[in-house]
Amino acid sequence: MIKKEENILLEQGKMLPVMEHFYTLQGEGAHTGKAAYFIRLGGCDVGCHWCDVKESWDPNLHPLMDTEEIAETAASFCKTIVLTGGEPLMWNLEILTNRLKELGCEIHIETSGAYEMSGTLDWITLSPKKTGLPKPAIYAKANELKMIIFNNNDLKFAEEQAAKVSANCVLYLQSEWSKRDEIYPKITDFILANPRWQASVQTHKYLNIP
Ligand code: SF4
Repeated sequence: MIKKEENILLEQGKMLPVMEHFYTLQGEGAHTGKAAYFIRLGGCDVGCHWCDVKESWDPNLHPLMDTEEIAETAASFCKTIVLTGGEPLMWNLEILTNRLKELGCEIHIETSGAYEMSGTLDWITLSPKKTGLPKPAIYAKANELKMIIFNNNDLKFAEEQAAKVSANCVLYLQSEWSKRDEIYPKITDFILANPRWQASVQTHKYLNIP
């Protein structure tokens, strides 16, 4: 359980609940195949029923780490850092991203957009969810829109969300992993009819890397 005094450090962004951090290849979206250091922050209340990282939801289950230390560890591996979760925007990212920038890093984030942005972010992957819609300000800043498709209604939701992002935001459709055999043929047909979209595949799962 997070203690009262730790809550103050969390609010200030001096400590963050880190579920895991690791060096791997980015598996999804426009940066697929690039070496990147992932920092997965605990905490999410968006509640997607198909979420494949449900163990991230409760921030109390993840150790609080000193923010500058985690930044320095990440930057010692490579200069592309991916902040993910959970929902990383639940936390104050100012100190983390400031330190990463001082260390010469490019900072990517994967977010549902359900919380206000904080920190300096170089690449925003916005992945809106019906159960926790993005805050309006993030749409114009998103570099890529990644819509997870679980059923046909999700394609309609994807189009609604695409109408809100900027013209140069890259649009991706990605099947929820367990439904991939059923959904990718639908995604293919949809993209052939709507060529502004592209398919995103979770290549790290095929490569058996984290
Ligand atoms: Fe899981 Fe992401 Fe949905 Fe949160 S927003 S429940 S981490 S898929």
